[in-house]
Amino acid sequence: MDAFKLYIDGQFVTGAASFTSLNPATAEPWATIAGAEQQETDHAVEAAARAFTSEAWRGLTASARGKLLLRLADLIERDAARLARIETQAQIAYVAEYYRYYAGLADKMEGATLSIDKPDMETWVRREPVGVVAAIIPWNSQLFLSAVKIGPAIAAGCTLVVKAAEVAPAPLLALAELIDEAGFPPGVINVITGFAEQCGARLTAHPLIDHIAFTGGAETARHIIRGSAENLASTSLELGGKSPFIVFADADLESAANAQVAAIFSASGQSCVAGSRLLVEASIKEAFIDKLVSKVRDIVIGCPQQTDTQFGPLCTLRQKQNIEQVVSRSLEQGAQLIIGHEPVSQPGFYYPPTILDCSSVPEAESVVQELFGPVLSVLTFSGEAEALRLANGTEYGLAAGVFTQNLTRAHRITRQLRSGVVWLNTYRVVSPLAPFGGYGKSGFGGEGGVDAALEYTTTKTVWLRTSDEPIDDPFIMR
Ligand code: NAD
Repeated sequence: MDAFKLYIDGQFVTGAASFTSLNPATAEPWATIAGAEQQETDHAVEAAARAFTSEAWRGLTASARGKLLLRLADLIERDAARLARIETQAQIAYVAEYYRYYAGLADKMEGATLSIDKPDMETWVRREPVGVVAAIIPWNSQLFLSAVKIGPAIAAGCTLVVKAAEVAPAPLLALAELIDEAGFPPGVINVITGFAEQCGARLTAHPLIDHIAFTGGAETARHIIRGSAENLASTSLELGGKSPFIVFADADLESAANAQVAAIFSASGQSCVAGSRLLVEASIKEAFIDKLVSKVRDIVIGCPQQTDTQFGPLCTLRQKQNIEQVVSRSLEQGAQLIIGHEPVSQPGFYYPPTILDCSSVPEAESVVQELFGPVLSVLTFSGEAEALRLANGTEYGLAAGVFTQNLTRAHRITRQLRSGVVWLNTYRVVSPLAPFGGYGKSGFGGEGGVDAALEYTTTKTVWLRTSDEPIDDPFIMR
């Protein structure tokens, strides 16, 4: 079995806890993982706090910090195949581009000189790192979701404790080996994992933490905010979604169907931006669903390590059981099964691509709840106003897809969608240059782009009196 250790203060160490990671394709253990409890969590935060004020880190120029990120990007690219195997994710090489983007930004986060409204005064604003960052990562797309935190935080000059999810921590513990090889000073980036109470809660409430960058579910986010009531750390939250995928009758249906299949069934639906609500114009409902069903029938379900596999298992048994139960209850509520929801004859945590017609029960559980799995709920609409009402009829607001050939409609609808990202005639495109974040219960604070790096900074205003005349005694009246 593979073995992974915690990375604290530049050392690979075991923790008070130890657990096994299960291979979701077989339900068998494949790696042993060192887990952090309170002592190791404190140790990691203290190391990051020491590193933050150390000469080895504060003495580096912003350009030198950028070069460290560039080195890490090169190592990720070099080891992309190994990291992809551990994370079961094909596009690891693109993660390197995020590090390169923030490497380039490191020496471009400029302050300002003010045209101040006072004589004999020079006033300027320095942009400084916010301090020690707790980066809390969910179990999906971990190398990507950590890059969008580590990249900007290091560019800004912060130090970090990165907490990997306990259900699948191996990719980030493997990344720690590359962080070490890249030559970051000890304690600048620490990588730990552990359970919510012993590790996560301790980390987010720790008095030495200045900023918490969290990606995960809304319920956990409430715990994070409660934790930050202790240390008054600033927070950014990237939470879930129930993203609408809107198809108008004038759309290129073949293109829209391919995009919809990718939107909900890639990564077996385990994506925050999964297009899980299909809103289709009533006049083309049957034609569009026929296309989807024929594509779904061709999906090859299997072990992710086999090259012909197109659709793998879910991450945990608990998640599989939750999805099965929500779909069963939705069917009892009146949803109609179009395809899927039958057992998959494989030993791991598999659940098949599933489509439910919920057009007569728009309040069905599968329409409302984020499932984080391969379940598409179909609703129908007639006209733009109804499409918008349904699309915005969710407490989330992370992403939306719109398929239409009508340019003016695309603009109108984009303006009114309550959603952090709108994809027009495409879906799921991301780039380090493009901000990413949500409305409503999908969180606040963004990742990607320049603004994300500024979230890891704070400003310091400096006043310099330029007169050589002594300051008047305030108690002598003139
Ligand atoms: P989760 O909320 O269960 O866990 C996320 C992380 O928080 C894990 O590392 C976990 O150990 C930690 N955690 C749990 N309880 C904690 C506590 N009390 N204090 C501190 N840390 C704690 O989420 P998950 O199941 O790992 O991931 C799925 C969720 O993440 C979905 O809702 C999904 O939509 C969301 N997500 C959002 C984005 C985005 O960018 N908006 C991206 C990916 C996933």
